[in-house]
Amino acid sequence: MEQFEKLKLSKGILQVIQELRFEAPSEIQEKTIPLIIEGRDVIASSATGSGKTLAFGSGIIERAKPGEGIQALVLTPTRELAEQNARSLNVFSRNYGLNIKEIYGGVPMNPQIRNLRSADVVVGTPGRILDHLRNNTINLRKVKVLVLDEADRMLEMGFINDVEQIINACPKERQTLLFSATIDRDIEVIGSRYMKNPARVEVKSYVDPSKLKQFFYDVPQSMKFSLLVHLLKSEKEGLVMVFCNTRINTDFVANNLKRQGINAMAIHGGLAQNNRNRIMKDFHAGEVLILVCTDVATRGLDVKNVSHVYNYDTPMTAKEYIHRIGRTARAGKEGVAISLVSSRDYENFGNVCNDESLKIENVPVPEVENLMVEIVKRRYGGRGNFNGGGSDRNRDSGRGNGRSNSRGFARTSGGSSRGRTSGGSSRGFSRGRSDGPRRRY
Ligand code: AMP
Repeated sequence: MEQFEKLKLSKGILQVIQELRFEAPSEIQEKTIPLIIEGRDVIASSATGSGKTLAFGSGIIERAKPGEGIQALVLTPTRELAEQNARSLNVFSRNYGLNIKEIYGGVPMNPQIRNLRSADVVVGTPGRILDHLRNNTINLRKVKVLVLDEADRMLEMGFINDVEQIINACPKERQTLLFSATIDRDIEVIGSRYMKNPARVEVKSYVDPSKLKQFFYDVPQSMKFSLLVHLLKSEKEGLVMVFCNTRINTDFVANNLKRQGINAMAIHGGLAQNNRNRIMKDFHAGEVLILVCTDVATRGLDVKNVSHVYNYDTPMTAKEYIHRIGRTARAGKEGVAISLVSSRDYENFGNVCNDESLKIENVPVPEVENLMVEIVKRRYGGRGNFNGGGSDRNRDSGRGNGRSNSRGFARTSGGSSRGRTSGGSSRGFSRGRSDGPRRRY
């Protein structure tokens, strides 16, 4: 507690921190809270689960007063993150009587319009906030604190114009706090255009490397699903997240896990909001033990007790990989990240391995039973590919709805791949850029 007191947090927040039994500030809290309370603009690089909500929450609580209009706006890339942030802010500010409202798309406007009339703090996604701005149903002229949460993700999702319009609707005289997993040129541009002499804070991943084991299996595509089932059944696990790159693969994996009697649910941007909420609630409560998901659907969400993260598809970048594995080995617990790498993943896995800080150990593929799978075809406008396509067309943008679906069956081909190691194989992937030496694995 002493360390929190040193950060000059006000009494009402300190009391909540004590009730929550937080022992010490996280690195991001330690580094940003004094700057935020002082009123500085801050650009902070911070991973999922770093404790950033309390950091920007301390600024909001410091400056917002009940009943004086919308004085703080938190922009988030996804509806789930908006809900999670609002939940946390409600807890942290419970001694201050602030009215915190969530504003996101996929639900009717009218209840939000009513809520906005009494809101002190708004947490929401850019698209819907902009809708309210255009309708004149939100007034941002009293905003004192503007938070851009997961700013890199908002830019990646194409929200830049929306975000800029929203920023321009806020008073020039304000505090702007930007949190982002990575700080690249686009983020710097936002910083220079819209922030005043921002302080920069860098915090390394919250994942404790001594607690997180990272493995990969070099497995034929035809055996991937069978290997996943084998691992899920043989490893002793808590909550499990299985990441796919596309909606169609997410459905494919979840559907076939259920056919194997495994308690799994799919979550991706093609599902209606109420379904996504229900699935996340069941997962939080441990009623669903395996969440098969895209990055979009779960980005930034704080899910506790995830013991295993599987990459059914390898993400395209090391950054995305780090995001995914950051869901486990949190708060001192142990975790395992397992990548199932087949030929179509080699290029991506090569990109991931370019990050020398990642130590991913190759594990031989055990002998596994060759399972029958049911194919999910032509959903979400993607290819009806066996085991799902990997095309960008089919990637989860977080928007839109899946509809028709035709199905077929296939037995996964290929025999056992026992004892496979990746070294020396013609199926190798490489670390290193095309202009440098390529190391085979
Ligand atoms: P966040 O990154 O803000 O989503 O926080 C991730 C999780 O860590 C949330 O469940 C917080 O309640 C929790 N948390 C935040 N700060 C601390 C802290 N100093 N000690 C322990 N847990 C924390």
